[in-house]
Amino acid sequence: MKVPLLDLKEQLVPLRHEIMAAVTEVIDSTGYIMGPKVEAFEKNIASYCGSKHAIGVASGTDALLVSLMALGVGPGDLVMTTPFTFFATLGSILRLGAKPLFVDIDPVTYNIDPDLMSRVLAEDEKLAKKVKVILPVHLYGQCADMSRIKALADQYGIPVLEDAAQAIGAACPLVDGKNKRIWRKAGTIGAAGCFSFFPSKNLGGIGDGGMIVTDDDKLAETMKIIRVHGGAPKYHHAIIGGNFRLDPIQAVVLDIKLKHLPGWHAARRENADLYNTIFEESGVIAENKVSTPVGFYRSAAQAEATLPDYHIYNQYVIRAAERDSLLEFLGKEGIGAEIYYPIPLHKQKCLAGMGYNELSFPESEKAAKETMALPIYPELTDEMQQYVVDRIAAFYLG
Ligand SMILES: *Cc1c(COP(=O)(O)O)cnc(C)c1O
Repeated sequence: MKVPLLDLKEQLVPLRHEIMAAVTEVIDSTGYIMGPKVEAFEKNIASYCGSKHAIGVASGTDALLVSLMALGVGPGDLVMTTPFTFFATLGSILRLGAKPLFVDIDPVTYNIDPDLMSRVLAEDEKLAKKVKVILPVHLYGQCADMSRIKALADQYGIPVLEDAAQAIGAACPLVDGKNKRIWRKAGTIGAAGCFSFFPSKNLGGIGDGGMIVTDDDKLAETMKIIRVHGGAPKYHHAIIGGNFRLDPIQAVVLDIKLKHLPGWHAARRENADLYNTIFEESGVIAENKVSTPVGFYRSAAQAEATLPDYHIYNQYVIRAAERDSLLEFLGKEGIGAEIYYPIPLHKQKCLAGMGYNELSFPESEKAAKETMALPIYPELTDEMQQYVVDRIAAFYLG
């Protein structure tokens, strides 16, 4: 049996007719830059997320870059973030001449550890003053501990920018003034949140695309100006921006797919639950060979009347003994698995000279050596999942 990591064809086939019609309409309209289709999609994303503004941009990377620019990040500034994420999180900081202030991850969720953040900020007042933005990443589709991160950021007066590239629609529990739990969508808790529509994300386009959400009128205005070269009014440049626009062709495709997103999230979560069950039955967990991902907010979520998307499982990531041999074995068995991410960011060559080593961020190092993502896309069948777990059990237990 062949089980690819991701099969986009399965998603395309039932939507193909509708997508082709919408794309054809854009082509025939000859309106290829911005316009009503982009605006309509922005409105729908804002309403889906529960944010006041949504600003379409050309990629998740541009969403981060534009947001950091709008928040005034520049040379000499520090941005507090995780070393265990996709490179774009770091790249956008470095492109502005700023530097990362890495904080290690929590080994259960793989997200930035609020205890360590608190310690780093408390330890060195001068350092804390240089932190211009706190940039948590909601890795694999599960929110970082935003309740605590937001409280910490407020205490120090630092804005939070959420890298929600992998977590559009993920629900995050916050405690309100009356000590009651409320669920907010990823990206809407900090000053702004960034999404990516890279084809492998839960909401993926037919090319690159991205979006920023914010409730802040002034920030939204600045972002919209930065998106078009900083021109406001047109041809008058008080600030420097770039070309960061979202194409209407992507907007119409994404708008069609957005209607299906809650169903796809639910299907991924059901797949994750099934994996958890059959891994448990297989014996590899009892033998300490594999550990399955923990839905950190799962118990909180299950107390609710309707189950919120506390984890949207953009990736289903296990820890595995002898990870590299297992990966090779699965490849030979026709199973697509991947490592996200094999090299933590503090070990990247572009940061050589910053004085990091193997001991700097031990949990990120460990995660990079032990973890692997398994196929989790919505259309995956029960038989395929059973096969994946059977082969993994065969690798360890014979
Ligand atoms: C995908 C991703 C990005 C970048 O998004 P692009 O649309 O590919 O530019 C940024 N951060 C994280 C965590 C991502 O997974």
